[in-house]
Amino acid sequence: MALLFVSAHDHAEDWVNELNAQMPELDVRVWPEGMGDLAEIDYALVWKPPAGLLASLPKLKVIFSLGAGVDALLADPTLPDLPLVRMVEPGLTEGMTEYVCLHVLRWHRDAPLFEAQQRAAQWKQLTHQHLARERRVGILGLGALGSDAAQALRALRFDVAGWSRSAKHLDGIATYHGAGGLAPFLARTDILVCLLPLTPDTENILDAGLFAQLPRGAVVINAARGRHLVEEDLLAALDSGHLAGATLDVFRTEPLPADHPFWTHPRVTVTPHVAAITQARTAVEQVVGGLKRLAAGQPLINLVDRRRGY
Ligand code: NDP
Repeated sequence: MALLFVSAHDHAEDWVNELNAQMPELDVRVWPEGMGDLAEIDYALVWKPPAGLLASLPKLKVIFSLGAGVDALLADPTLPDLPLVRMVEPGLTEGMTEYVCLHVLRWHRDAPLFEAQQRAAQWKQLTHQHLARERRVGILGLGALGSDAAQALRALRFDVAGWSRSAKHLDGIATYHGAGGLAPFLARTDILVCLLPLTPDTENILDAGLFAQLPRGAVVINAARGRHLVEEDLLAALDSGHLAGATLDVFRTEPLPADHPFWTHPRVTVTPHVAAITQARTAVEQVVGGLKRLAAGQPLINLVDRRRGY
């Protein structure tokens, strides 16, 4: 049983070591140097493989994505029509929840303001402090990542709501769904967090029309995909004062070009697509689990529904 590891972004050795440790019988091959005979490859574990590579593996049975988001894979017209398993693993979920809590708290507690004051050696105290329970956080997407972040924010006492495609019930979280649920969800959201998959339905969702439905002074955090956001609309909403700030981890062009206005905008925080990283030590168990399910004739979990796009 041979698995091909394909990623120009990850440290292949970590993955090979962890796969060998957890499944010694698995023959792990590494793209591009150590692929061996392509006709022997049964499975592929991939992040942004070169177009056409997966289609050139005649015996390939299942594709495992190293990322939770499969938009880049689905955009490849040569992607073979095989089961595609996306990444759902505790490290990715915990990492994203930490990122979301960090940046929600950062805006909630006026950290950008105090950082600017420090740079100007200004001692200016606030006379009013909002409590988390007075701050309404709204999460677009209540999947593996959004629902965990929602619960952690709830534990910090934020007033949390979430929006998904299908109806959901999460203890202590106000839930909205579908096109009809979006407007009331936005109207009650002071800090908006985007954790949606990128699909034809969600592309450009963070646009002027959506921002206008948020209360004045709202903040936007995008940790999902760059193409969810219409960048000019965000800049206009910030510059008009309708939005108070934004934290952006993902961008239409990555790396973010050196002359992009986000780098220097006083109310934009930029991070370089690091909100949550799939790491071998926590993620290999889910891949090995999938391979064991296949061997036992059980159905795979976390399969992508290509029709929905996630
Ligand atoms: P899931 O598939 O588990 O969850 C997606 C959620 O979005 C679901 O609640 C789904 O609704 C909802 N959704 C999808 N389409 C729509 C729609 N048209 N309208 C309303 N709701 C919709 O994904 P994950 O939580 O695992 O990951 C989310 C995304 O986060 C990934 O696709 C990836 O792009 C991004 N990501 C970013 C990282 C980073 O470092 N910046 C790291 C990891 C992921 P329903 O529940 O009804 O299906």
